[in-house]
Amino acid sequence: QTPTPFQISEESLIKSIYKPRSPFAHKGTYGHALLIAGSEGKMGAAILSAQSCLRAGVGLLTCHVPKCGYTIIQIAVPPAMCIVDDQYDHSSGFQTDVSKYKVIGIGPGIGTAAGTAWAMERLFEQYRQPMVLDADALNILATTPGLIDKVPAGSLLTPHPKEFERLFGKTANNREQLQVLSHNAIEKRLCILLKGRYTAMAFPDGNIFFNTTGNPGMATGGSGDVLTGILTALLAQGYSSKDAMLMGVYMHGMAGDYAAETLSQEAMTANDIIDYLGKSFLRLH
Ligand code: AMP
Ligand code: MG
Repeated sequence: QTPTPFQISEESLIKSIYKPRSPFAHKGTYGHALLIAGSEGKMGAAILSAQSCLRAGVGLLTCHVPKCGYTIIQIAVPPAMCIVDDQYDHSSGFQTDVSKYKVIGIGPGIGTAAGTAWAMERLFEQYRQPMVLDADALNILATTPGLIDKVPAGSLLTPHPKEFERLFGKTANNREQLQVLSHNAIEKRLCILLKGRYTAMAFPDGNIFFNTTGNPGMATGGSGDVLTGILTALLAQGYSSKDAMLMGVYMHGMAGDYAAETLSQEAMTANDIIDYLGKSFLRLH
């Protein structure tokens, strides 16, 4: 078996992926996304992912939030619509026709309650298009045997190193970690990344890319929730799973770099990454 050559994700590649908007576009053109996020005490994750999803160009956004999050999300994110779970997490399930959504993003701040895990399992039965899975959605996958095999093909999984270890086990070194990453992407037909200074991205076609943007200022709570929103928005706009992951990770890092340049790595927060997404998109024009 010949080893897969690693590739670098850089600006020329992202410019070739980027599709400018049609002058005749309407909000339906750019997809209706459902974002399942937040629980009691973790509504900030829902706000960050919802705001970044909107800033990354989604056509329409509906957020599924727990009952304690209704007022919070409606006030914090006016452009988003809202479906309310009558529990403090997502344990009541998604009592709505999920098939109408172009894409579903799930995970930021949802918690790992048994009821939420149950709801996620039902979701995979009802929805078979590529989704974005992050954070507690990954932790639920890691603790529910066989559930990862039910994730729709082409979905994007975005673990940080700890979540990666929970999902796929301990590895001896970076080389073995990349092998495990790529093996799972191929076998399960998923786009899986491993977050870090040079985020590694593995695809079902066997290719592995390393991202070049980003900085240690992004080592701050909520950075990953912002990425979930961006990836969800790009899938909603019709980018393929692979293109969405390459472009989303690159844009996320570039927005972080703009934030650090202006504010410093120390002072920047996840909110600032969202604020600099606009400047990052302009660079693609
Ligand atoms: P999370 O741990 O889920 O909040 O995600 C953190 C995000 O910030 C990921 O997208 C990381 O790639 C990014 N990040 C964190 N630390 C660094 C770093 N030192 N250099 C570049 N990106 C980073
Ligand atoms: Mg995270």
